[in-house]
Amino acid sequence: MLLNFKKLTGQRAGIKPNAGHDRHVIIIGAGPGGLCAGMLLARQGFRVSVYEKNPVVGGRNRPITEQGFTFDTGPTFLLMKFVLDEMFQRCGRRSEDYLEFAKLDPMYRLVFDDREVSVSSDPEKMHAELDRAFAEGGAGFARFLAQEERRYFALYPCIEKSYSSLRDFFSWDLAKALPDLALHHSVFSNLGKYFKDDKMRLTFSFQSKYLGMSPWKCPALFTMLPLIEHKHGIYHVMGGLNKISAAMAQVIEEQGGRIHLASEVASLLLDGRKVNGVRLASGETVLADDIIINADFAHAMSTLVPEGILKKYRREKLPKKNYSCSTFMLYLGLDKAYDMPHHTIVFARDYQANTENTFVHKRLSEDFSFYVQNPSVTDPHLAPSGKSALYVLVPVPNNLSGLAWDETYPRLREQVLVALEQRVGLSGIRSHIEYEKIIHPGTWEAHENVFLGATFSLSHQLSQMLYWRPRNRFEELDNCYLVGGGTHPGSGLPTIYLSAKISSGMICQKYGIPEPVLA
Ligand SMILES: Cc1cc2nc3c(=O)[nH]c(=O)nc-3n(C[C@H](O)[C@H](O)[C@H](O)COP(=O)(O)OP(=O)(O)OC[C@H]3O[C@@H](n4cnc5c(N)ncnc54)[C@H](O)[C@@H]3O)c2cc1C
Repeated sequence: MLLNFKKLTGQRAGIKPNAGHDRHVIIIGAGPGGLCAGMLLARQGFRVSVYEKNPVVGGRNRPITEQGFTFDTGPTFLLMKFVLDEMFQRCGRRSEDYLEFAKLDPMYRLVFDDREVSVSSDPEKMHAELDRAFAEGGAGFARFLAQEERRYFALYPCIEKSYSSLRDFFSWDLAKALPDLALHHSVFSNLGKYFKDDKMRLTFSFQSKYLGMSPWKCPALFTMLPLIEHKHGIYHVMGGLNKISAAMAQVIEEQGGRIHLASEVASLLLDGRKVNGVRLASGETVLADDIIINADFAHAMSTLVPEGILKKYRREKLPKKNYSCSTFMLYLGLDKAYDMPHHTIVFARDYQANTENTFVHKRLSEDFSFYVQNPSVTDPHLAPSGKSALYVLVPVPNNLSGLAWDETYPRLREQVLVALEQRVGLSGIRSHIEYEKIIHPGTWEAHENVFLGATFSLSHQLSQMLYWRPRNRFEELDNCYLVGGGTHPGSGLPTIYLSAKISSGMICQKYGIPEPVLA
């Protein structure tokens, strides 16, 4: 498996486009999943039309550009860069010809109440840092790397494939990997095999929050997230990760696909359970052979499909599924350059209580964890000279909390500014704010079409994964496919790109169009 990864990385693939048919695919949403599916299908000769409600591409991966400052709306960590590289290679291109990557070392700084840890993907540096920061030292780290790498290699083939039929599900790959699912363990309990100190375990388990989950509930198989960071590193893209979506849009258009911005889809056109096209908010109807839905899954099911068609995902059932947490976002354009690491994760003093408030009690905490990105230290394109663009993310409950966010958010904003002063030393930050924008769970739901404001989609417990997640070839409608965080393999850029590869591969297979073979 490792050899394969290497083989796919950084080489130019001699793939020929597949012309000679005129199948039309409509993609609803120009988020990372929709754009990636669009570029893969355009390469295979499909007529691709992407309809996006916003005036820019990228969805949660689009830029916020104001007063000379640029912020990524959502994703700031690029993991598994080789997956992104593969998507460009499948289109006969190199990602490096479109994007400038910066590998981060250290990857991030962790701030606990009593210590800081600088996390590196260089194993020697990391071992030395664990020796410095923790009484138990780095002794368990080598075992963590070795054992979790083995699990990762066993599980990766299961992530890459579709679970659209029971036959797919009962596959040899999954049967072999069953022991590695560690069904009765969470990420946090699994890490007890290597590390004793709770803070040491948090150093390797806070990554569950990338999925909007608690480390105490997130299935042990996701211990692969910290492993992937340590094995492959974390990348920034110059100009922001939003440049990836812009580059994918460019590749779609270079291959003859069309992206219609500010073009909201109002509903699917259905003949029974067969999808024939879409009706736009403008009233126009557009026909297609196949439809791919990239819009947030539960939002799409509750708005685009007329009532009475769906069974498993009918409207009244949707709120009963399990969803990720939400996020409170504060984007600050500052008239000062701060010498602070690119990524900083600050842990609540009582991390477990904060996590339970977010996920179980669905209430806010006075003592909360948060993440700060200060990308101007790496990337001069994001703020005018001498200034900085700061991104702050606080995990908060999704909208099952019932919190009235329009009234709640001003107080949380105040608390975040105090926390920035007290916990990461940005004293006097208020007097340096030139530009400010807030996105809260209410905004995610009302303006960004995110069901319940659950920014990381359906949660990733085993009962909502693999065969049990909404399937890439959507099981309730014909000619309809899903891509993005709400389908298999799940939320996060690399897995979303894999969802696009799986769904576009199924469409190619349906018409007997061979998929590209990577040289
Ligand atoms: C705050 C935050 C931080 C994140 N950080 C990371 C990170 O660091 N690394 C990482 O890998 N992942 C991260 N993620 C997770 C994930 O990678 C992103 O959310 C990603 O953008 C999701 O992609 P998607 O393709 O599922 O859909 P989206 O980005 O949600 O795109 C869906 C698109 O569909 C459009 N749409 C919706 N309804 C309609 C309609 N009716 N008609 C037309 N268009 C419609 C939307 O406008 C949107 O453009 C983060 C997410 C968030 C929210």
